[in-house]
Order: sequence, then structure tokens, then C-alpha cells
Amino acid sequence: MTSQNHQLHVFFFPFMAHGHSIPIIDLAILFAGKGVKSTIIAPPSDAAHISKVTEKAQNLGYEVDVLDIEFPVAEAGLPEGCESVDKLLSPDMLVKFFLATKLLKRPLEDLIRQHRPHCLVSDMFFPWTNDVAAASGIPRILFHGTCAFSFSAMEHVLLYEPHKNVSSDSEHFLIPNFPGDIKLTRSQLAEFVTQETWFTKLFNEFIESGARSFGVIVNSFYELESVYANHYTNFLGRKAWHVGPVSLSTKGITDKTNRGKKSSIDENECLNWLKSKEPNSVVYVCFGSVADFDSCQLIEIAKGLEASGQPFVWVVRNGKEKLLPEGCERKMNGKGLIIRGWAPQVLILENQAIGGFVTHCGWNSVLEAVSAGVPVITWPVAAEQFYNEKLLTEILKVGVGVGARKWKRLVGDFVRSEAIEKAVREVITGEGAVEMRNRAKRLAEMAKKAVENGGSSDSHLNALIGELKSLSP
Ligand code: UDP
Repeated sequence: MTSQNHQLHVFFFPFMAHGHSIPIIDLAILFAGKGVKSTIIAPPSDAAHISKVTEKAQNLGYEVDVLDIEFPVAEAGLPEGCESVDKLLSPDMLVKFFLATKLLKRPLEDLIRQHRPHCLVSDMFFPWTNDVAAASGIPRILFHGTCAFSFSAMEHVLLYEPHKNVSSDSEHFLIPNFPGDIKLTRSQLAEFVTQETWFTKLFNEFIESGARSFGVIVNSFYELESVYANHYTNFLGRKAWHVGPVSLSTKGITDKTNRGKKSSIDENECLNWLKSKEPNSVVYVCFGSVADFDSCQLIEIAKGLEASGQPFVWVVRNGKEKLLPEGCERKMNGKGLIIRGWAPQVLILENQAIGGFVTHCGWNSVLEAVSAGVPVITWPVAAEQFYNEKLLTEILKVGVGVGARKWKRLVGDFVRSEAIEKAVREVITGEGAVEMRNRAKRLAEMAKKAVENGGSSDSHLNALIGELKSLSP
């Protein structure tokens, strides 16, 4: 017998990288807001920060907890403390890291046996969790962290291999049987797609496990990409719930300043600086938590920003400030604010002074820009970021590219200062800037409506919870 009124208990298990854990934590809180008991599984070093976020939610009456899972760093041959991707120092450590995640199977089984959740929501990078959930008799729902557009486009490329029919890396091909005439080049595809690498087999496992899972939670909203949301379900056969933007749903519950990590700048200092600038004038530059640039590229960015004439906030990752050009800040003379380390990104994007966002097109950053109504200057680096760029520049028309041509695992493709300057000018003061800004503001309105009571994302979430309740005893 099943009851619709019993309390559902869901396990949330994010991959150990900020771009994955930040939205899953939001998701857990979102579920808790609907009366679900949410438990986030994380290694001790991440759990400490996550607990701060959940404590705030608990004080507001949310039932959301964190459980430690021991990450087997020593067994995997990784140095002590390497429990998350941002701590890895070389590409071969990444290989070890992925192998190590498979060793989490036994501890996860133990946690499920002890706590008996009704459902497991786990990251796409944990394909083995399908079997863990099946053995415990509970559904596994996959979270891939991107949108229906990009995930479907990527699946089409893997399925039809259109890149094999072009004669050079720079010749364009059309993504077959995919709405919107989307063209890419071979050099924009991930290296594990164009060559057989250690990640190729793993990636196929991710896709295959997604197809076998109970369904997919998408951090996007239906109206943003309705054609592709339908395509994902009807053509690729994925059962999907579009419940985002999760960062908007948890507004007021989570701490915007220390989202993901403790901010490296005082909130008031940052806000006061922005307050002194004209509305829609400041360029915000941040490349997420993983992408990296060398010293030559940082110099080009500094030159490009200076030449654009716009004020800017530039986030330079910890340890990279030494690579900045000599006297860089002095020369900027109040025009630029450099944040070394971690920026309060959502807080910054929501400020009315921000007129454009130079982004690597990580999906969380994209959605945070959409939610804030900020047009983007796109500079994709890795992962599915070249697909996200297409959605922004060609489908939604809220961005202009800097012209990055080559997928790189970590260090972005080299872009000259002139191209950066041109794209910044086009987005902030160019002929079509006002129109583009208006389009971005309309999307932000749509995003807010989607997460409101009765909006599309809220309805998808209610439907999913209802379905899970009907399945669990
Ligand atoms: N982020 C932040 N401050 C920073 C850098 C990143 O708050 O200085 C957050 C950003 O708001 C987003 C996440 O970290 O939520 C990065 O995810 P995204 O998918 O954009 O990129 P990734 O880091 O996975 O490449």
C-alpha cells in the first residue's frame, strides 16, 4: 500500500567540484522546502562548508542534513586532502580522482542501508550509483548539471559523429537531426569525443547510465529551451524534470556571498564599489572554479578591458595574481576591481551596475546570468561550454563570443585583447546592446515566474515529488 502523505527522504550525492555541488545543495534545499527530508552526501572537507549552508536552512525549519562519506585519497594514490577537483594539481591526478570515486560504492551502500532513503539523486559522474540504488530497491535520478539543449546536442554528436565527415578541424558541420541548424567545428569538441582517451569509455558510461536511470533533473526552466526540453524527452527518450534555476528558488535561504566557498572580498566593499558605477556599465569577468589562463592571456585580458573603457570586476583565481601585469591595478586607477580567489558571483551579477559578464559558459554561470538579466561575452573553454555558447549567442541571442575556437581541458584558448575589447563594446555600448539587454531582462522575468508557486519549474518539482511518493511504501 502507498500513501501520498508520508515524508519522503531523498539522498543527494554531488560530484566533488563546485560547479556540481553548488546546484545540488540548492536542489536539496528546494526539496526540503516541499517537506522532503533531504540528506547531502559529501566528503568531510566539503561537508564542513555545506553544513554552514544547511544550518541556515535548518534554522528556517528545513529538514536538510549532511552525511560524511570518506573519500579514499590514500587508496587512490592521491595526496592527503585531495577530496575535490579544485585541489588536483595535474591531469594525471584527475584520472586517479575519477577512479577513486568508484571506490565510494561500498560506503554509499552502507549509508543507504543505515538511513533507508526513498530515492537517490546523484551526479552524472557516478554511473555506478544506478546499481547501488537498484540493489536497494530505490530509484536513482541523474543530475547532469547542464541544460537540455547542450546535453541533447552532445548526445547527437556522439550518436551521428558528424565531425568524422569534415576534412579539417576548422570546417563547420551541422549537428544532425537537431533543431536549430547548429554548427560546430571539430576543434570545438571535447578531445575525448574526437580521440579515444581515458575519459571516452567513462563518458559513454555516464550517458548509458543516464538512459537507464529513473529520470533526469535539469537545472533549467522549460520556457528557456522548450524546443530542446521536448526534444530531450521525445527524441532521446529521457524522462526529465526542469526545476531551475535552483539559485533563484533558494534566494533568501542560502547565503549569496559565500556560495560554494567563503568570499575573498568583503560584501560591503564590493557593493560600495559597484554603487559608485553607472547602471549597466560594469563588465564582470570570471571563469568559474576550474578554467585557467596563463600569464600571456591575463595580460591580454587586462589590455582588452582597459581598451574597452568600461569599469570592470575581474576575478583572478588564487595563486594567479603573480601573473598579472606589473602595476596592473595602479594603472587601472579605480576603473577595475580585482578579486583574488572567490567572488560573491550571484551578488555581483544581481547588481544593477553590471552590464555584461565575460564567462567561460559553465552552465551555473550561464543560468545565474540569465536569472539576473545580464548579457554575456562568451569564452568557452572545456566540458559542454561550446554548446552552451551556441544556446546563448544563436538561440537566445543574449551574448557575443570572443572567438574561442579550441576546446581545452583546463587552460582556455588564446584570445587577443582586440577581440575581448570588441566583444565587450558590442555587449555594453554597441548598436544592438539595448535590444540584447532587453532580451536578457525578459529571460530573467521568465526565470522568476518559472520558480514561483505554480510556475513551470515549481510544477515539475511537485510532479516529481508526487511520483516519488507514489513509488515509495
Ligand atoms: N563561483 C563563485 N565565485 C567564483 C567562481 C565561481 O561563486 O569566484 C560559482 C558560480 O557562481 C557558479 C559556480 O561557482 O555557481 C561555477 O560553476 P560553473 O558551472 O559556472 O563553472 P565550473 O566551475 O563548473 O567550470
